Amino acid sequence: MDLTYKRQNIFANADESKRRAIMDYCEGYKKFLDASKTEREAVATTVAMLEADGYKKYTLGDKINKGDKLYYNNRGKALFILRAGTADVAKEGVRILVAHVDSPRLDLKQVPMYEKADMAYFKTHYYGGIKKYHWLTIPLALHGVVMLADGTKLTVSVGESDDDPVFYITDLLPHLSQELNVKTVGEGFNAENLNLLIGGMPMHGEEKDAVKKAVLQLLHERYNVAEEDLLSAELEAVPAVKARDVGFDRAFVASYGHDDRVCAYPEVTATMRTHTEQTVLTILADKEEIGSEGNTGMQCVLINDLLDMIAASYGVNPAVLRAHSKCISADVTAGYDPAYASAFEELNAGYVGKGVAMNKFTGSRGKSGSNDASAEYVGYLRGIFAKEGVIWQTSELGRVDLGGGGTVAKYIAKNNIDTVDMGVPVLSMHAPYELVSKADVYSAHEAFSAFIK
Ligand code: MN
Ligand code: MN
Repeated sequence: MDLTYKRQNIFANADESKRRAIMDYCEGYKKFLDASKTEREAVATTVAMLEADGYKKYTLGDKINKGDKLYYNNRGKALFILRAGTADVAKEGVRILVAHVDSPRLDLKQVPMYEKADMAYFKTHYYGGIKKYHWLTIPLALHGVVMLADGTKLTVSVGESDDDPVFYITDLLPHLSQELNVKTVGEGFNAENLNLLIGGMPMHGEEKDAVKKAVLQLLHERYNVAEEDLLSAELEAVPAVKARDVGFDRAFVASYGHDDRVCAYPEVTATMRTHTEQTVLTILADKEEIGSEGNTGMQCVLINDLLDMIAASYGVNPAVLRAHSKCISADVTAGYDPAYASAFEELNAGYVGKGVAMNKFTGSRGKSGSNDASAEYVGYLRGIFAKEGVIWQTSELGRVDLGGGGTVAKYIAKNNIDTVDMGVPVLSMHAPYELVSKADVYSAHEAFSAFIK
């Protein structure tokens, strides 16, 4: 009898039909990624999937009836999907799945336009944790909205289609980088230099800011936008790249925004496809990358308002409903990278291809800021995954005291809800083009399906 614990490689254990199921599933995931470069687009893409499946728009305050399939769109940036089950929510509570759909990117400043040396630029302020040099010399697209003073909302997407122009941040040539090369990576790249090149054709007969004026002219003709309209805009520069298979065997997918759409998509498919009597609340949150703040982040009281509405509709005490609810906070974890082995502790790292990874705790310097799920709850989930044949693993985000990170888990747990972190291991996390194993994406779908069954 072998009493040792070993992680399992999913592809090594998969027969031909399982391998095909993994590959097919990830074709859907890649389409979702390409249609969902921003939190707003991820919400819109998901709403379209839900409506095609019979989900109806929920209005806050409406009674929820058993059997209802609903979604609540929070300001176009966060989404709550509700499947009202027939199980007794006083005993079973609500099964909650949470992932986030915002990703690191470069946001335009509110007064972004300027001109230097006959080139026009947009200034940016980065959103979330980035390595600044990653964003130099790659094709960038602009996505977002511009609110005009008359209340018109313009939706913008430039740079995704093959004949669209893209935007570009320059870097210094190696020939002249002797001073740059001796700086630390942290010092070498100035956030105020992360400016998008947006034009180079001066307006005829103009002396000052002739390129900027010509670009403004174009924007006015094309979108009816003047410089002042950018004051009330949210425009996000994201990599103008599509999700692609990686490797001769196509084992991996590289894409912008795996963090955390690689958990959001499996949550949505699990919610839509699983036959269950449980009441399920699936959340696509915004603002995770900047601390879950604001009224579209998971610190907003909206989750409790919706749980209260379920309790009221079912005639159950909301405190009792919450006490019996359970949550998987689905967010990516660091995949073990042999090129940077010293950043990991090998026994407890998450490995690509070995399944969706549970982080019992996150945080930094002595688990600070972490939810740290109980052994009881981890044991409960272990039992479910064993019963349903889900291959999963445990993981810790890097070696102790090297760094760390947080997730939305603690904001759900503080409502007296058992919560644990679980997500797909990612290589090059927060880079413009991140990498995951297809096996782990499918494993996340299987794990989330088992959880809500
Ligand atoms: Mn994340
Ligand atoms: Mn992140």
